[in-house]
Amino acid sequence: MDSRKTMITVSGIDVQVVRKAIKNLHLAVYPPDGHVRVAVPEHVTDENIRLAVISKLSWIKRQQRDFKDQPRQSERQYISGECHYFLGKRCRLELIERAGKHEIKLLQSGKLKMFVRRGASIEGREKLLYSWYREQLKTRVPELLEKWQPVIGVQVADYGIKKMKTKWGSCSIEQRRIWLNLELAKKSPECLEYILVHELVHLLERNHNDRFKGFMDTFLPKWRAARDLLNKSPLGHEDWLY
Ligand SMILES: [Zn+2]
Repeated sequence: MDSRKTMITVSGIDVQVVRKAIKNLHLAVYPPDGHVRVAVPEHVTDENIRLAVISKLSWIKRQQRDFKDQPRQSERQYISGECHYFLGKRCRLELIERAGKHEIKLLQSGKLKMFVRRGASIEGREKLLYSWYREQLKTRVPELLEKWQPVIGVQVADYGIKKMKTKWGSCSIEQRRIWLNLELAKKSPECLEYILVHELVHLLERNHNDRFKGFMDTFLPKWRAARDLLNKSPLGHEDWLY
């Protein structure tokens, strides 16, 4: 089903309104900036939404304050003891300073060993981890493409991995190219597979309509579970909430 989105302002707070075929009104505050979104049944008027939001105003403000007080993902230090995610698993970081090239080794125990030269900056360590994430995805994506392209009956010209703020993936139908969010390296393998299949299915159907969902149900019957898992993350996007 297609949903309609509008913005309203209630007591100085911007609220995104999404109208769709649901029974209940669903209000949520999302990290990292505490933006407010309300999903409502199609027939509900702006005035009713306004009243609902006002009744929840103190709750919203409390949520927004909590987000502000929370340390941000970007404030990570990349030092020993910190937890980082890889393929849905928590890995404890161990920072080791030594001469030689920067590298990362993942041990069986789940420990993530980061080897850097003495005095490497936080930015340098962050860059190292993300380039490792990219390498890991680059070994997994070709295998997944090999598995799924014959099943779905499409072929991509190319794929890319990049950081995206609002989407887990995208598909350029004309160029037959799919893009995958680098952050997927942190999520469970089912999430990466779901996004890859989702983007490949766009080569059969551009829109998120019933035909699209029919393809998803046929190819990957458990796709909703993977979508819900991703929706719980800060990068959740209306694209996944149909
Ligand atoms: Zn899509």
